[in-house]
Amino acid sequence: PEPKLQISHLDAYFNDRHVVRDITLSVPQRRVTAIIGPSGCGKSTFLRCLNRMHEHVPGARARGAVMLDGVDVYHPSINPARLRRHVGMVFQKPNPFPTMSIRDNVLAGHRLNGTHVDAPGELVERCLRQVALWDEVKDRLGRPGVSLSSGQQQRLCMARVLAVEPEVILLDEPSSALDPIATAHIEELIEELKERYTLVLVTHNLQQAARVSDYMAFFYLGNLVEFDRTDVIFTNP
Ligand code: ADP
Ligand code: ADP
Repeated sequence: PEPKLQISHLDAYFNDRHVVRDITLSVPQRRVTAIIGPSGCGKSTFLRCLNRMHEHVPGARARGAVMLDGVDVYHPSINPARLRRHVGMVFQKPNPFPTMSIRDNVLAGHRLNGTHVDAPGELVERCLRQVALWDEVKDRLGRPGVSLSSGQQQRLCMARVLAVEPEVILLDEPSSALDPIATAHIEELIEELKERYTLVLVTHNLQQAARVSDYMAFFYLGNLVEFDRTDVIFTNP
């Protein structure tokens, strides 16, 4: 498949600490690429360079190129807030907005962007169906998002990302705070989403990467040490 993201010679720092080191990697379109490696090896920092969240941390900087469909996301003309409509992100800890209802959480991305939604009810239903949450919550859309179980909250956060129709979804350990059943739900969802989206999944769980990814990138001490198709990695002796 065509590359959706082309990362070249990407370096990232926290002050003098060089935590992402000269990474060059193409992320294929409409596939799941897993970023795997031990804790502290730079996976999350790398992911945050892709949607320019990294630069918001005090002392943080990045160097190199990240091309999204051939557009350099670090070009001065790029507005990082608008970039995030194209590149959405889901975090380890489910983080619905605590004061918002289930419904308003799904619409939150549009509210923050100030974009107009023609049929909000339909959008909410469609996104909640996509994450297999609709039947569970359709009778209580006005209840707080945080009233849901943590697995449901994570699916709500996925629905919030889907509502703005990004092309790329970055997932930073999306199930590591969840129980095994909720984890299975998230993995199923990831497999469904790759038909329409390009997914980059940070995980320290090799079994999870083996189950859901099409490509695997192994990080070690900030370096990319191997990148290949998941089936190739698991069939080679
Ligand atoms: P991983 O996701 O692989 O666990 P991270 O990208 O979170 O790794 O971290 C890479 C390195 O950067 C680690 O040494 C970590 O301690 C350091 N680091 C992460 N976040 C910060 C921060 N906000 N300030 C300073 N150092 C950080
Ligand atoms: P909108 O943000 O309303 O979709 P545009 O398509 O004009 O409008 O997007 C412009 C902004 O989208 C840029 O400032 C940039 O932040 C972001 N962007 C980044 N990569 C791309 C891309 N591959 N295609 C389109 N827009 C991109």
